[in-house]
Amino acid sequence: MDSSSPPPPALSLPRRQREKVLVIMGATGCGKSKLSVDLATSCGVEAEIINSDKMQVYKGLDIATNKITIPERKGVRHHLLGDLDPADGELTAAEFRDAAGAAVSDIASRGKLPVVVGGSNSFIYSLLVDRFHPGSLRYDCCFLWIDVAFPVLCDYLCRRVDEMVETGMMEEMAEFYSSESWAGRVGLLKTIGVPELEWYYKMGNFESNKNNRKMIVNGGDEEGGGGWDTVRRSVYEDAVRKIKENTCRLAERQVGKIVRLKSGGWDLHRVDATDVFRERLRAADEAAAEAAAEEEEMEVVMAAAAECGSGGARRKSRKKRRRQWAEVWEKEVMDPSVKIVKRFLEE
Ligand code: ATP
Repeated sequence: MDSSSPPPPALSLPRRQREKVLVIMGATGCGKSKLSVDLATSCGVEAEIINSDKMQVYKGLDIATNKITIPERKGVRHHLLGDLDPADGELTAAEFRDAAGAAVSDIASRGKLPVVVGGSNSFIYSLLVDRFHPGSLRYDCCFLWIDVAFPVLCDYLCRRVDEMVETGMMEEMAEFYSSESWAGRVGLLKTIGVPELEWYYKMGNFESNKNNRKMIVNGGDEEGGGGWDTVRRSVYEDAVRKIKENTCRLAERQVGKIVRLKSGGWDLHRVDATDVFRERLRAADEAAAEAAAEEEEMEVVMAAAAECGSGGARRKSRKKRRRQWAEVWEKEVMDPSVKIVKRFLEE
């Protein structure tokens, strides 16, 4: 090279900008899905949601795994939600990293905000950490952690189990267990409700055979006073009790893992949703008291006339109750979350 010629320009590659990713964390039942859709429809940016719940990635058991329904999605696109066949085996954390990582790149490349939502902390961790420097993050992340005081959350989760039963979880499970190949749907076998109800449904199959029925009921004496139904009823009640216990235990474990990530340096913004859940529980109590009163009313001779008058009032109070907890949700959860997300997007 001629010594008089200018030195070549320093090689300056543009620093690859890390994608912005919003991550919504929290225990099962704390309102992550609702918050994600509410934010996706009110933060002034288009967003798409990537599910990070271990059980919700599979097709099936929508009620037991508590998947967000189509109307609740309000048109926001969801990824990795109910897409996989549970018979193909369990999705590993490394596979989740690849699939969810591809979804992040795809969403960001279309100029939208990827929002990761779900309770599996090992999936979230696997997706977000840098492969070579596990202390640092692969994306520019904003973390929202919805927290609910544990006794309040646990109370709510137990009622949610009752609601799931009322809205078809048992029918869904019956269908699951009636399939010859249920044991091969490995991805779903750890879903809370599946192991707990296995014996109950096995008894159901047993029941269809009269000889088996005789064998179990009172040592073969079927005339012994409805023994089979009593046995099956107690197996059912025991299963529902275990589902409640295991759901609360899952919530406790999930919060423990989140707290560890926070103490390990992840910058989690904690949003306290306890008052929302207190309000929801109060509303549920009121609704239950009203339903009981309604039943009593139905028994009086002039039920029809009374129904006309009080039905309207009840509808009104139901609406009022919904409005009340929605107001607390806006004030305690949405407003602070919107502020945090807007600040993050402006950075
Ligand atoms: P681990 O590393 O222990 O697997 P994780 O955070 O990756 O923890 P979790 O999402 O806490 O995984 O799930 C642990 C277990 O909780 C599941 O194997 C399942 O039994 C139950 N579980 C998790 N999500 C659901 C769900 N949506 N519905 C029902 N059960 C669930």
